[in-house]
Order: sequence, then C-alpha cells, then structure tokens
Amino acid sequence: AIEVSGLVKIFGDVPVLDGVNLSAPAHQVTCLIGPSGSGKSTLLRCMAMLERQDAGSIQIDGQPLSIAGQHARKGDLRSRIGMVFQQFNLWPHMTALGNVAEALRTVRRQPRRKAEDRAMAELEKVGLAERAHLYPRQLSGGQQQRVAIARALALDPQLMLFDEPTSALDPELTGEVLNVMRRLATSGMSMVVVSHEIGFVASVAGHVAFLDRGKIVVSGSPEEVFAKPRHPRLTQFLETYI
Ligand code: ATP
Ligand code: MG
Repeated sequence: AIEVSGLVKIFGDVPVLDGVNLSAPAHQVTCLIGPSGSGKSTLLRCMAMLERQDAGSIQIDGQPLSIAGQHARKGDLRSRIGMVFQQFNLWPHMTALGNVAEALRTVRRQPRRKAEDRAMAELEKVGLAERAHLYPRQLSGGQQQRVAIARALALDPQLMLFDEPTSALDPELTGEVLNVMRRLATSGMSMVVVSHEIGFVASVAGHVAFLDRGKIVVSGSPEEVFAKPRHPRLTQFLETYI
C-alpha cells in the first residue's frame, strides 16, 4: 500500500499540493481525477521520487519513501516504482525490444541476452511480439505506449503509476492501452492512475480521489464518488472535462 500524508509541494510561493492525504491499497487501482493544474502530475511525480515535497510523507508498505527535504533509500525504493507518462518517452534510435531491454541492462545490469529474453516476454504480454524489431516511429501511438508499459513492467515494479497514459492518443487507440491496463489490474498489480477516461475509472478503480487546487476534496469507491448529489466542484469538473 502507498500512504500519502500531509503532502505539501510549493512552486514559487504557490502551494500546488496543499496537504494531500491519500491511501492507495496494494493490489488495487486508485484513480486520481481533477481539473488541469490541480496537482495530479505533481502528486504522481512525488510518489515516483521525481519531485521532492516540501512537507509531509509518503510510505510504501510502511517504509518512508521520502521525508520532507530528503530522500531515504532512494535507489532502492525508486526501482520498485514504475511510471508511464502521457508522452511515451521511448528512445527513438532503439527498437521496441531495445527500449525494453535497455532498461534491464542499465537499471538491473543484466547481460544483453537475458535482458532481451525478458523484454520479448514483456512485449508478448502487451501484444507486440511481432513488432519487437520496429522503431518507435514505425509504431502507432497506442503501440508505443504499450512498449512503454512493457518497459516499466520488465523491472518488476511493486507499484505502477500512470499519468494520463491515453490522453496523447487518438480515440481509436485508447482502448488497446486501457485493455492492457485492465489486464494488469486484474493480475493484482498495485496501480495509481491519473485518467480522464471516466468509464475506465468507474469500472476498474477500487478507490477514486478527486483533486482540486491541491487538495483532495472527494474520495471513496467509484460508486460513492460518482453518486448524486455530488460535490459542486466535482460536478463542474465532470461537466467540463468528460
Ligand atoms: P494537467 O491535468 O493539465 O496535467 P495537473 O493536475 O497534472 O494538470 P500539475 O502538472 O501537477 O497539474 O501542475 C499543478 C500546478 O503546478 C500548475 O499550476 C503548474 O503550473 C504548477 N507546476 C507544475 N510543475 C511546476 C514546476 N516545475 N515549476 C513551477 N510550477 C509548476
Ligand atoms: Mg498532469
């Protein structure tokens, strides 16, 4: 489980995260929704240790991920967290297989042959075995995003963070990525997902949190969060974004 308490992140003099408390149970999908600029990416980036909070704490399975101002056991814990971004961030000069294998070679120091075997197994799981030797520019956006997911999964993360993984995709390519995520959820992976795909959120999330201006203002099961009467800010968000 990941436990966020009293998280504060300030940019300039603006509190972008203003005392966030969030509990994401293990083996469940926790979805984060909220308007643009509400702090969703910043919260995820703090969880991934890409950003350092100004106050508050994050714990994974009872171990402090970071304490305000310092990162404890950074390398150790960071390698247990996989992250998938809106932009796929693949290396353009490497094939799909190369992209996945490179992560294993650099992060896990695996020899080429072993890394490539594992990479191929991960690409198979996301339905891309036949395209393993293509370069990112030869793949559709949905396929590139599936390579990015395979790359993260190859490192055996305990927690997967997804930041709007389908929002850069054409609508017809969104489904294939959501299906991969759905399967991952069914396999019991612990996931925190920022997404505006409300159908996905409602069907897959165990827990939904609505972030607004750096604060979680509504949280609960999808049934609870989407039930009427709704928090007025949530209603406004759903009308604007969905
Ligand atoms: P979106 O839905 O548009 O992705 P978001 O909820 O992910 O929005 P964040 O990216 O977390 O929002 O940004 C929250 C606020 O923090 C915004 O006002 C943004 O301008 C600000 N911000 C984010 N990163 C930085 C930074 N590195 N320096 C200064 N301000 C930042
Ligand atoms: Mg964002």
